[in-house]
Amino acid sequence: MAKLDQGPPNYKEMLPQVILENYGKWQYHEIPQPGVLKHVAESGAALYSVRVGSPRLVSIDFIRDICNLADQYCDGHLRFTTRNNVEFLVSDEAKLKSLLETLNAQGYAVGGTGASISNIIHTQGWVHCHTPATDASGVVKAVMDDLYEYFDSMKLPAKLKMGLACCLNMCGSTHCSDIGIVGVHRTPPRIDHEKLRKTTEIPSLVASCPTGAIRPDPKNKSVIVNEDKCMYCGNCYTMSPAMEIYDPRNDGIAILIGGKVSNARTAPSFSRMVIPFLPNNPPRWPEVTEAIRSIIELWIANANKGERLGEWIERIGWEKFFSLSGLPFSEMLIDDYIFARDTFRTAAGFKF
Ligand code: SF4
Ligand code: SF4
Repeated sequence: MAKLDQGPPNYKEMLPQVILENYGKWQYHEIPQPGVLKHVAESGAALYSVRVGSPRLVSIDFIRDICNLADQYCDGHLRFTTRNNVEFLVSDEAKLKSLLETLNAQGYAVGGTGASISNIIHTQGWVHCHTPATDASGVVKAVMDDLYEYFDSMKLPAKLKMGLACCLNMCGSTHCSDIGIVGVHRTPPRIDHEKLRKTTEIPSLVASCPTGAIRPDPKNKSVIVNEDKCMYCGNCYTMSPAMEIYDPRNDGIAILIGGKVSNARTAPSFSRMVIPFLPNNPPRWPEVTEAIRSIIELWIANANKGERLGEWIERIGWEKFFSLSGLPFSEMLIDDYIFARDTFRTAAGFKF
């Protein structure tokens, strides 16, 4: 039979021998130290995954370096997690200690397991995408540098998953993160009519707007934007270079908290906005790092062991969270603002 070259190879071709031999027969796992997961099979065989944070946008030199380490210690096996961590898969316990020593000596960031911050998952930012209201890697680097003590230890009340999306389209996983960092535009697109006539298919542009804010303007062979309907998402700029939405003075960052994907203990939940705007202040975004650190420290000081950020807030009530944090509440926050004109104490989720 002809061998087709389409599609990915069968994943089993890339599994470490110990996983193949114990496939479907893994019994439990534990975390012997921060950054190291130990999976144990019914046969008694063990696999150690050593987790290392990566900056996500990595150089070829970095990839060569980690591949060399994988050849040296893991029979060539490593994997990338969905949160941009690198995991070295070691089946030989004798090699684990030397791998950890080498990683530490070479300055790799080992951690992100258990009650810690896992690497921040993030989108493309200024490097790559067309609609970002903030950078991705730059903000993430600043935030993770500030919070590193919570990456290489396990002293948080529970795991903390953070995500960053650099615009409302949220092609990262920000909508269900313990803490979501979201780039926000705050002004509608500026139409360059002349450019639009030369570059743009008007029906596609009209169809690109999720709120129906764009309508054709046949007289001028262009379009009109109903600014009251615009939510500043930038989708139209994806469709037309004549719909510029960048605005250095008004673009910035919103903070959403309390979401999670996991259905352990409580149902999955969306993150909710608690800070609508922080300025873009590269290269270190001090307002953002400070805001996130104070939310985390409040959670550490008040949560029960094992309680994720959103679970703690649900227990004490969002009203109490706003009082404790000192963050100003407005009717634009949370998700039931329609009913919360004078107070945020309206929905069943709000209580003393
Ligand atoms: Fe582009 Fe928005 Fe995704 Fe950022 S979140 S990479 S701006 S689509
Ligand atoms: Fe529509 Fe979004 Fe463009 Fe506003 S920014 S006009 S909501 S597509």
